[in-house]
Amino acid sequence: MVSFRNRLRFEHQLAALVGLLCLALVGATVCGAVWLERRSAAELAGDRLARLAAFMAGSLDTTLRERFREIQVVASLAPLRERWNADPAATRGVLAAMRTTAPDYAWLGFVARDGVVRAATEGMLEGLAINGRAWFETGLTRPNVGDVHGAVLLSRLIARAEPEPLRLVDLAAPVRDAGGAVIGVLAAHLSWDWAIRVRRGLLDEGLPGTDLWVLDRSGHVILGPHLGAMPFGPARLGLLVEERRGTFAEVIDGETRLAGFAAAATGERTGIASADPGLGWIVVATRPEEEVLAPVRRSAQALLGLGAAVALIGVVLAWCLGRRAAAPLRRMTAAVDRIGRDADATTLPRLDGASEFAALSAALRSLLRRIGTVERELTDITIRSTRVAAYYRRQIEDLRQVAGSDVLTGLRNRRGFAAPAEKAFAQARDGRCGVAVLVVDIDHFKRVNDQHGHDAGDAVIRHVGTLLAEAVRGSDTVARFGGEEFVVLLVGLGGAEAALIADRLCIAVRGAAITHAGSVIMVTVSIGVATVSAHDPDIQAAIARADAALYEAKARGRDRVGVAPATGKAGRAA
Ligand code: GH3
Ligand code: MG
Ligand code: MG
Repeated sequence: MVSFRNRLRFEHQLAALVGLLCLALVGATVCGAVWLERRSAAELAGDRLARLAAFMAGSLDTTLRERFREIQVVASLAPLRERWNADPAATRGVLAAMRTTAPDYAWLGFVARDGVVRAATEGMLEGLAINGRAWFETGLTRPNVGDVHGAVLLSRLIARAEPEPLRLVDLAAPVRDAGGAVIGVLAAHLSWDWAIRVRRGLLDEGLPGTDLWVLDRSGHVILGPHLGAMPFGPARLGLLVEERRGTFAEVIDGETRLAGFAAAATGERTGIASADPGLGWIVVATRPEEEVLAPVRRSAQALLGLGAAVALIGVVLAWCLGRRAAAPLRRMTAAVDRIGRDADATTLPRLDGASEFAALSAALRSLLRRIGTVERELTDITIRSTRVAAYYRRQIEDLRQVAGSDVLTGLRNRRGFAAPAEKAFAQARDGRCGVAVLVVDIDHFKRVNDQHGHDAGDAVIRHVGTLLAEAVRGSDTVARFGGEEFVVLLVGLGGAEAALIADRLCIAVRGAAITHAGSVIMVTVSIGVATVSAHDPDIQAAIARADAALYEAKARGRDRVGVAPATGKAGRAA
């Protein structure tokens, strides 16, 4: 049997379903939103980092280009041509003016063709021979820029605010006389501090966690943390050089960082045909992915909280809705349950609300009416069949009585005699009481018929039967066995009492005058008496003995009683 008790109520099922649905929807929405937001945050951060790197690269490019151009312009100034070698003081003045304009020059000097420093800012290194230095040897032939390197001699001579060791970028351009012959080299050591300042300025304004690296063309760090290290492998470096600008993500020092990069400009973009200050620097700006995605995580948490609140509201609303929707069904269930238990409950309520409920209540009410009709029909049929059964029972009883009755006298016939006889026989056999049978026969009855007619004979039979029935007790049985012969069953008597009763019957018949059609008819009877023995197989054995005693009485002259001995011996005469 299906158990209804263990099942969830409708509102609980609905609330659970809506709750799950809300959670699934919120989960999917939050996941989707977080994925999109992550992607756009990463793209935005990458783009921002790339722009920062590009700005840094542009800034380095611009300064280097300006200084390089300046060196070339001053080296080729016509008014100074005769003074480079001849007037070191004037040269020193020009160089000092240049340094005033651009304080990032750590040192400016004119080196004569023989490799000796003729004039320099603040007279530093003047008289020193610097033959063999790459910038000088190249500077004799063409303008050139040397990559960043640590200062050797100047680091001791120049006082600086920066804690890092002094590093320099070498700039050099040939100085020619009026005839075009090279007379020396105008050289400058640009302090790398300008790059450090630019980087610091950008980082100060940048987002937290941002870092900037400047790598030389071989991938070594020339500005930023881990100076001289190679943070990227050859493959990544190759891509940076090839793509020139873009974004990527890389695990650096065990932390995933998003990066934007930009390569500094090359000589082709300087606008000076002979000048190529591009040193192949690559600027890489990085920021920890954790920092970039922190806002996404916060908004995901907010979204989840919002989603949970929406789910909770959905669950509560669904519960209320389910409760409201199930109320008519509950009302109907209770009403249906009362039908047949409660005598007052005879109808079902009409449900309003949804059309399905109205249809259900209409169908149930109609079903109840049909059941009522069938019930009434069934009751009618039951009552009718009960009446018919009673009628047939009476008919059967009547038939049974007719079958067991004698038509002429109204007494029992042989069939009607059988039941009380068997009952009495059973009692006698068990020794509960004595039972005796009398066989009564009208004497010379043939003569009555002959003398008074058959109707008179019938009247005589009826009269004798009535006499016999009236003479015995109600518990005794009188039956007409056929013709003018009767059998009387006496219960609760011994043989002697039965013989006395037989005598009384004889006397009663003898004394009765039967009037028929104006004639008075007198008859006598002979009676055979026998008592039922415990050895008798049935009642018929006793009747047979009484019959034998009757014939013995007839033989002895009629109008008398013959008693059969219990053992089957002949009885006495009355
Ligand atoms: P007994 O003294 O030896 O008994 O002589 P009986 O004449 O009485 O005996 P029997 O057997 O010779 O005659 C019985 C007669 O009873 C014969 C029959 O015609 C008549 N009888 C039998 N049944 C009926 C009946 O229902 N009505 C009438 N009127 N006569 C009947
Ligand atoms: Mg007779
Ligand atoms: Mg007879």
